[in-house]
Amino acid sequence: MEVSYGTVWNDCLDVIRENVGEENFNTWFKPISPLRVDGDVLTIQVPSQFFYEWLEDNYVPVLKKAIHTVLGPTGRLEYSVVVDSGNRQSPPVAVNYPANGAGNRRSAVNTNGFSDDYSPFQFKALNPQTVNSRLNPTYSFDNFVEGDCNRLARSAGVAVAKKPGITSFNPLMLYGGVGVGKTHLVQAIGNEIKANMPNKVVLYVDQNDFTNQFLNALQNHKLQDFQNFYLQVDLLILDDVQFLAGREKTQEMFFHIFNQLHQSGKQIIMTSDCPPRDLKGFQERLLSRFKWGLTADLQEPDFETKLAIINRKMLADGIQIPTEVSEYLAYSVDTNLRDMEGVLNSMIFHATLLKKEIDLELAKEVLKNIIKEIQSDVSVDFIQKTVSEYFKVDLDAMKGKVKKREIVIPRQVAMYFCKRYTQLTLALIGENFGGRDHSTVIHALESVEDMMKTDPNFKSSVEELGKKLKLRVS
Ligand code: ADP
Ligand code: MG
Repeated sequence: MEVSYGTVWNDCLDVIRENVGEENFNTWFKPISPLRVDGDVLTIQVPSQFFYEWLEDNYVPVLKKAIHTVLGPTGRLEYSVVVDSGNRQSPPVAVNYPANGAGNRRSAVNTNGFSDDYSPFQFKALNPQTVNSRLNPTYSFDNFVEGDCNRLARSAGVAVAKKPGITSFNPLMLYGGVGVGKTHLVQAIGNEIKANMPNKVVLYVDQNDFTNQFLNALQNHKLQDFQNFYLQVDLLILDDVQFLAGREKTQEMFFHIFNQLHQSGKQIIMTSDCPPRDLKGFQERLLSRFKWGLTADLQEPDFETKLAIINRKMLADGIQIPTEVSEYLAYSVDTNLRDMEGVLNSMIFHATLLKKEIDLELAKEVLKNIIKEIQSDVSVDFIQKTVSEYFKVDLDAMKGKVKKREIVIPRQVAMYFCKRYTQLTLALIGENFGGRDHSTVIHALESVEDMMKTDPNFKSSVEELGKKLKLRVS
């Protein structure tokens, strides 16, 4: 019999609702969406790693009870943690635990497309030829278009690829916003080194893989193996380090690995969404290491670079695109290159499978359909600025510690929008408001929800603000 995952999850929610208070229910269970039911395994999607950890620390008994009630005693729960929903290269990471087992997240199984040889627990000595570097071979320097926006970063990348560990660009830290090509560039470096220096062990990890493996090792008393594994790497690429924020133990371990690798002349490459000085929730000594080598930024691509990227991508798929169309796209898709890729893929789909001619009309149609779905991340800064302007309160006061009611409410509203419109964990939202902790943020979210229920004027203000913030999104 086919069971609908929606129904299964709704039944679970009924059980959960009876066991947790309404506020907790709204905060922790409403944002979850069911993904699938496979036999007696229900997979749910949770919005972030933090969320997942919170559930695991606080709600395992309730979740178990719900799953057992609905799916029977063999029922199990699997989480899919949304790590970076906009990144098409890496699917969301799924971490599982058996609801009828120890309920222990640290025995989590990482199913992020890893091959088994990657497990830090199985490795003794690494063989550079067979180690899974986790590189995507489609990323190369050849198909990375050079422009003013990325020239320094690209040249540094080329230099490192020629002489890993030997230049003063160690570590190489590349930073920039969403879709500016950080992952592409660091993977291109990895691919180049792997191709030219087959004896080097190259490894690409994103912070999430690193964190999960570390937690796994910690739980299984395999920290030594974990370290041994990483210390054999000649080129370590750690993508999106900003997500290590607030993870002290993981940072500690990374600090150690970093020092050892650096001392023995191994190359380290990292990416981040902001320069090291703006990284929050990091130990100072780790930040100072990040600055040892070269820090280079990638900017939003300018018009010419975008045009070249569009033409190259279409040509790679054997499609000629009229100039007016590529220019139109370069002008109109102004969110980021990942969104551009979505638009181009859709054009390619129309051209090859539906045999439509690529012209301005088609471009406009595709854009109209896709742009609506594009929900680029609104930044915390933008939310704070918009909210403070709307309520006419001083921005710094709102971000700070002032306890006056006329400041506190806008602050809570800004936190509320940070939760809704960004991927930040509660702890990091707190960081952005004068270093408050996650429970303060939870309290803020609850207050805003409560006020919206009881005060229609407040509710319409919040809705109006929501529209303002969204306007920027679409
Ligand atoms: P980031 O890691 O900075 O968020 P990505 O490296 O994932 O961005 O880039 C997003 C998409 O844009 C990828 O498909 C990538 O290949 C493409 N891209 C970005 N910059 C360039 C460039 N300079 N030339 C060609 N393609 C690019
Ligand atoms: Mg990336």
